[in-house]
Amino acid sequence: TKVLLNDKIVEMNQATVSILDRGYQFGDGVYEVIRFYNGEFFELLSHLERFKKSCEEIGIPFHFDLNTLQIDFNNLLKSANFPSGYLYTQITRGTMQRNHLYVHEKNLEPQLVAYTVKEEQRPFENMTNGIKVLLCEDIRWLRCDIKSLNLLGSVMLKNQAASLDAKEAVLHRNGYITEGSATNVFIVKDGKLLTHPANNLILNGITRQVIISIANELDIEVVDEAFTINEFRLAVEAFTSATVSEICPIVKFIENNNEFQIGNGQRGPITEIIQNAYTKKINSESDL
Ligand code: PLP
Repeated sequence: TKVLLNDKIVEMNQATVSILDRGYQFGDGVYEVIRFYNGEFFELLSHLERFKKSCEEIGIPFHFDLNTLQIDFNNLLKSANFPSGYLYTQITRGTMQRNHLYVHEKNLEPQLVAYTVKEEQRPFENMTNGIKVLLCEDIRWLRCDIKSLNLLGSVMLKNQAASLDAKEAVLHRNGYITEGSATNVFIVKDGKLLTHPANNLILNGITRQVIISIANELDIEVVDEAFTINEFRLAVEAFTSATVSEICPIVKFIENNNEFQIGNGQRGPITEIIQNAYTKKINSESDL
């Protein structure tokens, strides 16, 4: 595997950063995960724009040109010997003696790293049969709109879900569903799609945004207002969305050690319509 280290593509074993890098010591940085299908990135520009925005929100100067980054990422993709997968990239604030304060450090140089991971198949099995999730309290911080490297809350929640054989943790704060540990969450109510508004409590997923535009094209109304835990429990359909896991029906949930069904426990018709339109968009953008 080749690695993009700032502006150079190097071998994985040459891609080294200092242990004094603030990403390592503080999680002081941001990241993106970008899918590619059949040798073509999906929604690359939206991801790069969010990458830049995340940097700006935490005061990391984004001195990468978006056009240059697109070229570098495409070169990295070409160096991979597989057509389908995803690119992981992160930017950290840089290297200095460990200190919470960085404001007086003039020589901080942000470090960008990117590499590709093979993912031949789309997640057809989960997309068709759906997944079981764990409902739990959202223990994360209050700036979930930033795609921060600090993922400890999500890591704890997702592992708690996995220990109960659930694929994702669906989170709630003050009685309202926010999102999943690494996904956005939608429910269907009265023929409409409901999803948490894009504020500081969720990451505004690129997949979420694509789904909203697909729904608009299909005349399916989208209400981006927070819905309650009870609305989730009673939903006729629910699904998660994310770049790699795509659109997965939620068919079961665990709450207080009990297992319940969403709707009839199977993928619902509106979920399937959205999935099909998403597939069409992927295929049209990657010449499949
Ligand atoms: N919400 C959280 C907390 C995430 O970590 C992710 C993706 O990693 C998403 C939502 C989905 O975002 P996207 O659709 O851009 O992959």
